[in-house]
Amino acid sequence: MPTGIVTIDVREIAFRRRHSFVSSRATTDDRRIILITTGDSNGTRGWGECSAPEEPRYCEEWTASAWEFINSILVPAVLEAPPTQIASLQEIFGRFRGNRMAKAAVEEAYCDFEARQKGVPLWRFLGGSAEPIPCGVAIGIMSSIDDLLALVEKEVSSGYRRIKLKIQRGWDVAVVAAVRRTFPALALMVDANGAYTLDDIDALAQLDAYDLLMLEQPFAPDDLWAFKQAHDRFNTPICLDESIVSLASTRAALKLGLCSMVNIKLGRVGGHSVAREIVNLCTSEGIPCWCGGQHEAGIGRAHNLAMASLIPRIVPAELSASERYWDEDIISPPIQVDNKGYLQPPTAPGLGFVVNEDLVLQCTVRETHHQG
Ligand code: MG
Repeated sequence: MPTGIVTIDVREIAFRRRHSFVSSRATTDDRRIILITTGDSNGTRGWGECSAPEEPRYCEEWTASAWEFINSILVPAVLEAPPTQIASLQEIFGRFRGNRMAKAAVEEAYCDFEARQKGVPLWRFLGGSAEPIPCGVAIGIMSSIDDLLALVEKEVSSGYRRIKLKIQRGWDVAVVAAVRRTFPALALMVDANGAYTLDDIDALAQLDAYDLLMLEQPFAPDDLWAFKQAHDRFNTPICLDESIVSLASTRAALKLGLCSMVNIKLGRVGGHSVAREIVNLCTSEGIPCWCGGQHEAGIGRAHNLAMASLIPRIVPAELSASERYWDEDIISPPIQVDNKGYLQPPTAPGLGFVVNEDLVLQCTVRETHHQG
């Protein structure tokens, strides 16, 4: 007999990356990650991971704001009116503006719990397909083009199916030209994390010469006019990342002609339910979408994998092996991408991976326990 969720544990872990990662907006070394654990009286548990970064550079949310929102507002509201279905979480979430990464983490823990209770893998529970998922990697801004070319070579020979380069002023057209010269057939794209303005549009137009899969988020999230100009003028497809925060913002971007690709990040859009709506909208509009990633540990990565299973396998997902990020991941087995660059959806119930609870405990810096 299925039972309802009666406890929610909130835990912050501190986790060291194997290598620093530099984008136009932040350098990531140590991660401070919030984990959510839902539980019932029978011992079934579900896990979610909050993708909020340590500082509000990628978006307004950050670990400390998410911690406060989850503990003081969101979890008390959820436990006060225990939802019988995941869909009813959306009504509670809708009372509060923004804070989507925090909401996503709580919804993830509910989805994992319910999938485990039903004894099915999370990807199947969400309605995804078992087909292997093609994967690509993102490479940060580096200190030299030679180092970059060496790293591209390493990732390509590992099997990854596309390479994304982070760009910013001073590390853009010449860098792309060098990579394209060395790897003429490489599936290559670039991501600016909003580093440019409309004044840069002529410089960015030079990227059209390099047969890129897409130019991701060249402008600030709210600079819609600049996206419209670039989309109308460039041959390179424009992809939105930070600007896509909901079904409504996706619909506006597609209907107003601001982009021709959509990066879906589970945390940024507020969880699995909204992500699925965005996948369905993009598919019905004939716009390719793909699963983006942040600097997730294994629980977040496993949720991304489940979300990616819903997406037609056109553009490789930003899903890469745990070993690219961590010496030891918080799940077993770690996420592994095969030598052709594919990830196989797991067969075990829920996330499909075992949470390494000893490691989680070792890394925990604070925790709270909420009882319904
Ligand atoms: Mg991006």
